[in-house]
Amino acid sequence: MILKTLVVGPLEVNCYILGDEKTKEAACIDPGDNVDEILLALADAGLCLKYIINTHGHFDHVGGNSRLKQATGAKFAIHKDDAVLLENVASQSAAFGLDAVSSPPPDMLLKGGDEIRVGSMVIEVIHTPGHTRGGICLFIKNTNSDEKILFTGDTLFAGSIGRTDLPGGSYKDLIASLKNKILPFGDDVKIFPGHGSETTIGRERKFNQFLIDIK
Ligand SMILES: [Zn+2]
Ligand SMILES: [Zn+2]
Repeated sequence: MILKTLVVGPLEVNCYILGDEKTKEAACIDPGDNVDEILLALADAGLCLKYIINTHGHFDHVGGNSRLKQATGAKFAIHKDDAVLLENVASQSAAFGLDAVSSPPPDMLLKGGDEIRVGSMVIEVIHTPGHTRGGICLFIKNTNSDEKILFTGDTLFAGSIGRTDLPGGSYKDLIASLKNKILPFGDDVKIFPGHGSETTIGRERKFNQFLIDIK
């Protein structure tokens, strides 16, 4: 499996490129900005982009959707409850004093339990509302390796959790998502969040105060 991380845009979003070594098919998670760099990274690895997936509809995660879709013909997917956020990308970014590019409407509306196949990888959609109503985490099942990877968007960070004071946010929902959908994962599962450094479920279970307080 090929995994590349690019830090994009003024809010330093982690954009992930996930590729299958054999079939060269790829998915891009949260292309918030810096589309030229993303295209270069895809070309470097000889990858063909099949899917653009947003973990949620905040402007810093979706700003590159339009150009990346145009350049690659990839299908763009987001959870059905966050599609509405794509309609107000301009006002979202203006609230941060920034000017983000609006997103095209999605080609695919996701829900919890959906699976997206990319070569030998299966991307499982886990609905984790709280940061936004349609926030998702993406669990990668790779038929060629034992490595377990979870992309958590702005739901869970190394040492912290997502903010819940933006429209559609709910602290109660976020805690329920973490408790019921994320904590059941094994300690060896690697976490790749929407901002900041990677971590593991085990490390967060032990040191993340928000998760310690849940138990
Ligand atoms: Zn966000
Ligand atoms: Zn974010």
